[in-house]
Amino acid sequence: MSSPTSAPAAGGPPSVRRRIAVVPHTHWDREWYDPFQTFRLKLVHLIDGLLDLLERDPSYKTFLLDGQLAVIDDYLEIRPENEGRLRALASAGRLTIGPWYILMDEFLISGETIVRDLQAGIRRGTAFGGVMDVGYLPDMFGHIAQMPQILSQAGLRHAVVWRGVPSAVDTSAFVWEAPDDSRVRAEYLVAGYGNGAALPDDAKALIRRLRSHLDEIGSFLAPDSPLLFMNGTDHQRPQPWLGRVVAEANDMQTEFELGISSLPEYLSGLTTEGLPEWKGELRSGYRSNLLMGVGSNRVDVKQAAARSERSLERLAEPLSALYLDGDAWPAPFLDLAWKLMIRNAAHDSICACSVDEVVDAVLHRYAEARQIGEGLTNEAMTALGVSLSHPGTTVINPSAHDRSGMVELMVPALGEPGPDIQVVSQRAGLPGTITLNGTTVVNMLGLIQGSRIDEDTYVTEVGLTEDDTGLDITLSIGSHPPEGVPIEEIKRELFTKLTAYPDTEVRVTIHQPAMRRILGRQEDVPGFGWAKFEPARLSHPVFVDGDTGPGVTLSNGLVTVAVDPVDGTFSLNGVAGYGRLVDGGDHGDTYNYSPPAHDTIVDAPDSVVVTIGDRGPVRGTVVVRSTYTWPERVDSDHGTRIGSRPTEITTTVELRADETVTQVHTTFDNPSKDHRLRVHFPLPEPAATSQAECAFTVVERGLTAEGREEEIGTPTFPSRRFVSAGGLTVIHEGLLEYELVDVVDADGTGPRATGLALTLLRSTGMLSRFGMITRPLPAGPMTPIEGPQMIGPVEARYALSVDPTDPYRLADDVLLPLLPVGSFGGGGRPASGSPLTLRGAEVSSVRREAGALEIRVFNPRPVPTVVEVDNRSGWMVDLRGKPLQPFDGRFELRAQGIATLRLD
Ligand SMILES: [Zn+2]
Repeated sequence: MSSPTSAPAAGGPPSVRRRIAVVPHTHWDREWYDPFQTFRLKLVHLIDGLLDLLERDPSYKTFLLDGQLAVIDDYLEIRPENEGRLRALASAGRLTIGPWYILMDEFLISGETIVRDLQAGIRRGTAFGGVMDVGYLPDMFGHIAQMPQILSQAGLRHAVVWRGVPSAVDTSAFVWEAPDDSRVRAEYLVAGYGNGAALPDDAKALIRRLRSHLDEIGSFLAPDSPLLFMNGTDHQRPQPWLGRVVAEANDMQTEFELGISSLPEYLSGLTTEGLPEWKGELRSGYRSNLLMGVGSNRVDVKQAAARSERSLERLAEPLSALYLDGDAWPAPFLDLAWKLMIRNAAHDSICACSVDEVVDAVLHRYAEARQIGEGLTNEAMTALGVSLSHPGTTVINPSAHDRSGMVELMVPALGEPGPDIQVVSQRAGLPGTITLNGTTVVNMLGLIQGSRIDEDTYVTEVGLTEDDTGLDITLSIGSHPPEGVPIEEIKRELFTKLTAYPDTEVRVTIHQPAMRRILGRQEDVPGFGWAKFEPARLSHPVFVDGDTGPGVTLSNGLVTVAVDPVDGTFSLNGVAGYGRLVDGGDHGDTYNYSPPAHDTIVDAPDSVVVTIGDRGPVRGTVVVRSTYTWPERVDSDHGTRIGSRPTEITTTVELRADETVTQVHTTFDNPSKDHRLRVHFPLPEPAATSQAECAFTVVERGLTAEGREEEIGTPTFPSRRFVSAGGLTVIHEGLLEYELVDVVDADGTGPRATGLALTLLRSTGMLSRFGMITRPLPAGPMTPIEGPQMIGPVEARYALSVDPTDPYRLADDVLLPLLPVGSFGGGGRPASGSPLTLRGAEVSSVRREAGALEIRVFNPRPVPTVVEVDNRSGWMVDLRGKPLQPFDGRFELRAQGIATLRLD
């Protein structure tokens, strides 16, 4: 390809002097092939030197601190004394910061996490004079469809992207449109964010470098358009000679006009006029590595992310916002949990294309965020329980839509259970008095945490009396946590007494009724509301037919699931072959799947044992134990799978009364390396496209993926919580990667898939690798690591539906079960109600912000919707909290739109 520019004739005036905007920067992966603390040490040295350089050398005009505030906090944790210097340089425009808190991966985290990341960056950036108004996305492994809308709603009109840009875009800038038609100008970093990295300390060499770079990418640039020259790369330190060498280069030629520039300065004045347009996600490997296999690398990390997101976004925040007093909103806990989530969102962290110590830290952060979420959820549920007028069990619906569903709870075993109740287990009562010595009693009470004895039983009352013969303790045990049992106080009192009189006789009387764990169906719990638990008549109870010889059938009149006793698969409404496990080799790395040169596929079990678990009427389960012989690993020299390992895979298939989804839980101990395990499902109808949940929308994808020789396009795509194709919806917990498979062209009308494969596990042993079939060149350090092999316990949860119910609703039904809470009565809330009724859109977030109840909704459908917020008025705000327009009770939300509301 030839350059559109040519050197001017010697001595003559240049016709066009091409502007070269040199943007000094560093790309700071916070943790990756080294752990955070190792990289942070280098970061501190880098910023120490950078501050000195900027203060000393005015010709080093400006520096881009990678678009993420995390690097500033990481630095200030070690050098708090330099905050003023950072602020002075940022305020003077010498340092460009934000807008993100972290440079995340866009596909593997929730849309809400992306928004919180941006908001956290903007909020932190105000301490430094504000963030740059550019959606800088330099290294993300592709870009989500709704990013232009997210950026627009934060007042950002520019994006800067690299990976994922498709062959259809052949210019260095384009108009990028979201599904709702929001548009930003996207600067395309044709040669990446390091096209001007490591510039020579020699002006002549710099000019030569520019000419050769323009030879390489000039066809992307209009003849008179400036060139963005990104002077930095991964963890690169600033080059102190930059100001001088740029000045020398300007003096010695008239072809280029070089200037050190900030990114906003370069973009200012660049318009969208005449630029080509692209609508939707950017997921092509045509021009640069997209790294298409990160969604299935370390599935344990993706599952942990899914659980933590749900715990915070769908449970802790909405329930705390709706059931705690406004001044009890647990902001410090939630801020901490979100900081953990946002740090994990970094592209090398959630993608887990990192060394094992990094992945350990990521899992720990997710666990802590989830623990905070679970604790806050429990507190909000207890607050509701205390506020109820009636005693007994109440059911909470954490989702926005009115719901019915199965409830599992412990109750006293009084009388015969009704016909619509299923008893899962029963334990005998424990009446009686035992006589113990003081030390034993103190030890026993020490094991009781608060009022909790185990997951089902609580101390509900404690009595303590004393006479000449000793102490009498009375413990009442029940199935619900009580309010205000002074157990710690009584423990202290006992301890004091027993220390004074260690031989005192202690008589402990325990009242514990017989208890049973039951399942029942609760009808009509309002969205975000509660209803007193009243087990409903089952319209479609589950029947379990057959025995383990010829096969077992679960049926509720809506769905029939029949397990094949030979191959362990099951049929749904007569369509056979669901749950077929297909194991093949994977000689790839953490970034990409790559089959070995000579693959061995294992897709049939050696033996199958089928047993019946629950027998209905509320829940029926069949347990399938399939034994396989998998190869042990891939032999690198020959590209073959060698060795053998026996594996038993346990799959529990579950059907519930009055529900159309079939839930599946698979567990096994992974014994093998270098392989990919997928579960296959037939599609009821052949399909040319899939519809997958992505941040704030559903994206439609075809049967192929664009790639190139250096990264072969593999049509394995990420979905967030569900993917639909050909009449099948798969809902999953953190099993992000799917592929439409078994493609045929039966009637000559074009290729159609007849199956969908969901990746349960991808095991590889290298952070990156050289010479792979799908990606010949390495994408990171070629470091052997054990963690991605995932040797050990593996668990997978998903659910299948072949009915046309809205997949958002199905996903909530499966992933957000109705929650039971106990009440002693005496409060003011009636038997059923809801603090918030919202219809017409999906809800992404309910929380308290700026003293108000803030709700974020989105319309993932191609037509406008009317959103009703019953009896509530307020303001629509942008992602910076700026009021846009008022609403009263209802408002129209455009197709594919996102709206944030603050209620009065
Ligand atoms: Zn990076």
